[in-house]
Amino acid sequence: MSIYTDAELATAMIGWRRELHRRPEAGWTEFWSTAFAADVLHSLGYAPRVGREILDPDRRMGLPAPAVLEQARQRAAAEGADARWLERMGQATGLVADLRPGREPDLVVRFDLDALEMPEADDAEHFPAREGFASRHAGLCHACGHDGHTALGLGLAALLRREAADIKGNVRLLFQPAEEGVRGAASLIQQVLGARWFLAVHLGLGAPESGALVAGLSGFLATTKFDVRFTGRAAHAGLAPEAGRDALRGAAEGLLALHDLSRDGAGRVNVGLLSGGTARNIVPDQARMSCETRCADREADNALLARARALLARIAWERELELDISIQGRAGCAASDPELARLLARTALELPPDPDGRQPFAPDKVRAEGLMKASEDAATLMEAVRLSGGQAAYALLGANLAGGHHSPRFDFDEAVLWPGARWLATVCRKLCLEQMNVKNIHS
Ligand SMILES: [Zn+2]
Ligand SMILES: [Zn+2]
Repeated sequence: MSIYTDAELATAMIGWRRELHRRPEAGWTEFWSTAFAADVLHSLGYAPRVGREILDPDRRMGLPAPAVLEQARQRAAAEGADARWLERMGQATGLVADLRPGREPDLVVRFDLDALEMPEADDAEHFPAREGFASRHAGLCHACGHDGHTALGLGLAALLRREAADIKGNVRLLFQPAEEGVRGAASLIQQVLGARWFLAVHLGLGAPESGALVAGLSGFLATTKFDVRFTGRAAHAGLAPEAGRDALRGAAEGLLALHDLSRDGAGRVNVGLLSGGTARNIVPDQARMSCETRCADREADNALLARARALLARIAWERELELDISIQGRAGCAASDPELARLLARTALELPPDPDGRQPFAPDKVRAEGLMKASEDAATLMEAVRLSGGQAAYALLGANLAGGHHSPRFDFDEAVLWPGARWLATVCRKLCLEQMNVKNIHS
């Protein structure tokens, strides 16, 4: 079993982050990343469960075609992913490691594994390119910091293992697939139900400074991601246009009508992609739109989606088109519990300095609450935990950033990983050592 000193672990976490950064994998294809994290966890004395062992396959949303999954699996194997992990995973990704296996979790800490489908900057201005750890996968890039999240989770795992004798409860580390597009969390609800506490952490975002911490985020928007497909009938555009059923025209009408739904302030609808047709002189028989709704609460989002469905159905009926609407992702809008958030903030401020005298967090940059007008897959898990009587918090771990999130130049200050892991480990120890309701913890 590997046991790291503090200095070794701080270095190892940066190394893990870079290994993951080199091999970015989009949602549901994180085969290499899952096997890599499983290897590290195994070396730390954990018995991780992977892929099909941890999730409900029928609740996965926005799943790529089987051929895409198989290709990613083969790429992972070619890049050295251990065949035993791949075998156990099946066609599913993600993993769970319990500090005390065989017990329900007292505390779940969630990290996300996936990267984005976009190219990474490759010039010397971009730190990962200059240091030789930029993406080796064309068209894929860790541009949201999830490589850092996974490294943070592995660092936390190492610290918890070292301090296991002091921790009475079971801490479950959950590395989820497919956070982007809010597609993965719903399939993992059984991993968090019954937990007394749930934590999720994101690097950067509304805390773009190293030394900062926003411990209890709220204001997540409920969202539904859905694809719309109109099917009509192709015909010669000159000789017999009346024989055709124009799917692209139906989609175009649908796009305009969907945008009108946003006007009354009920929420927002965005159509991010519209495509259709085959050639200039053919009545288009196919059209496709990728859409999303965002609302301040789940009920409003459900209502907005119902109105969207109704108006698309009306257009399909009027234009004699077939209509298929498929849900590709969905998240709610859980808020962080203020008591738990305050404990997270207080713990950050109480951490002793590093041996070189550096304070891990800047007191004037630590806050116990913040707003995020975006959506997060973790909200689904937070809601599940709160419904079953537990408490949940979502924190932003501050980091100096280069480029914005989801841009080809995105990068974060790796030096925040080590204090981040120390902070999380101390939080876990506080919660599980004292085995009491967080409301009673006063330091
Ligand atoms: Zn993102
Ligand atoms: Zn992210």
